[in-house]
Amino acid sequence: MNKKKKIFDFLVYVLIFVFVFGFIIYTGRHSAFGKFVSGVENKAFDTRQNLILSRKQNNDKIVIIAVDDPSYEYITENFGTWPAPRSFWAKLINGLEVANPKFIAFDLLFAKRLETQDKGDLELIEAVKNNKNVYLSMNFDNYPSQIRKPPVLPENLGFDIKNGGIIKNSPYLHFKNCRNAMDELLEVTSNFGFINVTRDEDGIIRYFAPMFYYNGAFYPNLTTMIAMKYLNISPEHLHVDKMNRLVLDKDHKIPLNPDGRAIINWYGKEGTFEHVSLWEVDNAINRSDIEYLKQKFEGKIIYIGTTVTALSDVKSTPVSFMYPGVETHATFLNNILDNNFITHLSFKADMFISIVICIFIGYLILRLESIPFSILCCAAIIAFYLVFALFAMEFFNLWLGVVLPVFSATLIIIAAYIAKYLLKSRDYEHTYKLAVTDGLTELYNHRYFQEQMILNVQNVCRYGGVFSLILIDIDFFKNFNDAHGHQSGDAVLRQVAQTIKRNIRTSDIACRYGGEEMSIILTNTKKEDAITTAKKIWSAIREKKFELADGTRTNVTISVGVAGMPDDGKTPQEIIEYADKCLYKAKQNGRNRVESKV
Ligand code: GH3
Ligand code: MG
Ligand code: MG
Repeated sequence: MNKKKKIFDFLVYVLIFVFVFGFIIYTGRHSAFGKFVSGVENKAFDTRQNLILSRKQNNDKIVIIAVDDPSYEYITENFGTWPAPRSFWAKLINGLEVANPKFIAFDLLFAKRLETQDKGDLELIEAVKNNKNVYLSMNFDNYPSQIRKPPVLPENLGFDIKNGGIIKNSPYLHFKNCRNAMDELLEVTSNFGFINVTRDEDGIIRYFAPMFYYNGAFYPNLTTMIAMKYLNISPEHLHVDKMNRLVLDKDHKIPLNPDGRAIINWYGKEGTFEHVSLWEVDNAINRSDIEYLKQKFEGKIIYIGTTVTALSDVKSTPVSFMYPGVETHATFLNNILDNNFITHLSFKADMFISIVICIFIGYLILRLESIPFSILCCAAIIAFYLVFALFAMEFFNLWLGVVLPVFSATLIIIAAYIAKYLLKSRDYEHTYKLAVTDGLTELYNHRYFQEQMILNVQNVCRYGGVFSLILIDIDFFKNFNDAHGHQSGDAVLRQVAQTIKRNIRTSDIACRYGGEEMSIILTNTKKEDAITTAKKIWSAIREKKFELADGTRTNVTISVGVAGMPDDGKTPQEIIEYADKCLYKAKQNGRNRVESKV
């Protein structure tokens, strides 16, 4: 019985477990709930990034020349409008080159030739042509060909990436059109990268696209381009490995999400990388302040981009509400150079972690008796996991899912407690039944009989009505035991009890009064009806052949006394006494009979 119960309990818990996880997997995959979970998971990522931010160090080789608010003012003041004329940028390039920077990368687009500034365009083309460390950007989009005919990009801009399906098939990275740079620039340099950004559903930038796919070839992000040049990586061996990493070389692999994008690992809030205002650089160039330029830019990787909100290249990120796009590039370049990428474990891994935590929590809830203590333990496990996830991000660059584990743990806690207490109440019922039942005859025991007598008397006193009591004693049972043995006596007791049960209503309460005496409380029953029942039982027992321990059969007889309330007494004692007297009278009168009057 106990073993069966244990197996049953175990199955109940397994069922709960399967149900909770079935629910999570189903809703996680198929509904708005899945989006909700990944939305909260993203927020949990943001929190972790912010918590570990102060312990990260960014690369000081990267400097940003910022078109900030004062510089924007400076340009509109001096040239009447933004953007500045191309000659301005040509002068900037030539001026910066004096300081011998590593690279000059423009997070600005020099699109088609401006007829009114023909001279400026030519100067810019000349500056780019003469300085091989200048990098320019272009932008992909999906404009219909009626608006802009998709340009054919020079062959030397595109790569082949082996096993690059993850990029080619990504809705974020596969484009149909391109806003290209002016043709003459494309003729003089192949230093081009692309600067598309993608936001999450909540408008926040968490992912960076290292590569794009357009018109049959793969194209690098401006930053991937710079990194490859910096690390001296030739594009021939670029490929995506089995772990979905974009392999630049054996030491530099960018882990990609299933959508082909990489997770940005942040170093700080906006202003993390050194910013130099464009107007200050222009001033230094104008006064030929080579010392200043060298001190700021010698050997550095320079990104030039806007940080002005008005120019709309400012995004929300996990670490700042207003983060310049150019600084996102700097951050990602820093990620590549330091090989500091975050890997997000798959949904399956999150599931696995959740299952392990839930098994652990479920086991604790089952084992621990004290509710406050077990809740405390569950909370401790969850808290421990959250801290572990934080450390995993800080020290191993691992993004472990926290929402699914915490959510499923909470569900398991609730479900396990409900199951535990349902099973407990079932156990309680079982224990209660044991406490009021006689083990041999399976009739109610003496204690229960006394309780029910009190209840029935109280009911009749309070609401009127009737009830009756039958007392039964087996005749010459001592002799029977002596003749046939105790085993047979027990067998007869059991069979008498069964015969009694078979001849009464379900509302009647049959008890073992003691020894070989039994009692029946007949609720709401008049004494005449009780006498009828008593006679029915008496006759059934007289007729019955009782099977003994050795398999032989024999007869027994009973003597029966009947009493009724209100006629025969006002208290339980009086009623029992009356029935007992009747029983005594039956014995006196020769046994094997029913008596109902003293
Ligand atoms: P009578 O009632 O007809 O006067 O005679 P009796 O022999 O039945 O007398 P009494 O009630 O004094 O004896 C009760 C006997 O019932 C004593 C005991 O041997 C037997 N008895 C009581 N409880 C049990 C039991 O649980 N198992 C068995 N086998 N016998 C029991
Ligand atoms: Mg007796
Ligand atoms: Mg007897």
